[in-house]
Amino acid sequence: MQQINHPLLSPSLGTQRHLSSWHFGRTGSGSKAYVQASLHADELPGMLVAQHLRVLLEAAEQRGEVLGEVVLVPLANPIGLSQTAMHHQVGRFELASMENFNRHYPDFFALVKDEVAGRLGPDPEGNKRLIRAAMQQALDAQAPSTELQSLRHTLMRLSCDADVVLDLHCDYEAVLHMYVEQPMLDQMAPLASYLGARALLWARGSGPLISFDEALSGPWWRLREHFADRAPVPLACASTTVELRGQTDVSDALAAQDAQAIFHYLQHVGVLAGPAPAVPPAMCEPTPLAGTEALHAPHPGVVVFRSQVGEQVQAGHVLAHVVDPLGQRSTPITTSINGVVYARHNLRWATSGMEICRVAGRDPIRSGNLLSP
Ligand SMILES: [Zn+2]
Repeated sequence: MQQINHPLLSPSLGTQRHLSSWHFGRTGSGSKAYVQASLHADELPGMLVAQHLRVLLEAAEQRGEVLGEVVLVPLANPIGLSQTAMHHQVGRFELASMENFNRHYPDFFALVKDEVAGRLGPDPEGNKRLIRAAMQQALDAQAPSTELQSLRHTLMRLSCDADVVLDLHCDYEAVLHMYVEQPMLDQMAPLASYLGARALLWARGSGPLISFDEALSGPWWRLREHFADRAPVPLACASTTVELRGQTDVSDALAAQDAQAIFHYLQHVGVLAGPAPAVPPAMCEPTPLAGTEALHAPHPGVVVFRSQVGEQVQAGHVLAHVVDPLGQRSTPITTSINGVVYARHNLRWATSGMEICRVAGRDPIRSGNLLSP
């Protein structure tokens, strides 16, 4: 294993952060997998999974079983990790810009489509190399001017030529679930099965503020459709955001289980020597992100949950009550769809309009921007 430290642009004087990446196998020797943890810096389960995965990968490397290349970034957000306000870690948004660390990644489709038009040929592999080179050139042309921009730029440089990308996050309180772009479902479904995901949420572009995983898989299916009648474009990068349950689901038992599942998936896709264990039966079917219902507090109050994460519910089921401690109100929060309660807030005091929990159903009920800013 080789560790590389990438200096980030320093926002001031007398301070310098860096991003560390761990590299297993050899560049260009085969398929490349990229795994990063805790891009939202207060989402720690993935950080522990990375530690367990590192041990497995080092052993595999010593046995000569790393057929391709694995890049593991165990701590993807040193900026957010250092942000503390009133004793609370602030890891989702950068305090300086108020921007979400997992938004505003490059729109590679827009950046490269004109560059590669007219140069694509009949060979999908050749087109893949051409598109990847154009993506690298697009990054070369960017000049980050803030520390956050340099973090995003560094993460993109490390990952944009990967065949498989796993971005490890977590929710407040949740069962394990994944976000994936619909054209990549077939490639990612085995990972969902190995991990025992309880919801596999797909979308075709979730909105204009491009997330890390969508920046990497999005250009491939968009270019494939754009050039459909002219040249074959492979779905060369399958990326996903994996939500490793809730923020406090940090344990060696879970991390070892998840690291082993990722290891098996990397065997399954041929980055590591196999054989991979048989893909277990899926614990959920893929459902549209547009089919998720977010339930909100209609007024302030104490949140009293009536359902657990992972529970299958029917339309009309009461998921929680919001209790007004000054009045007589105790308002039931009722789902309007059938599905699984896959995530809920960890706060028990709701301000008006606060999102309380989410249910994943089979039928689309939303459109437009599907992710929070
Ligand atoms: Zn996150």
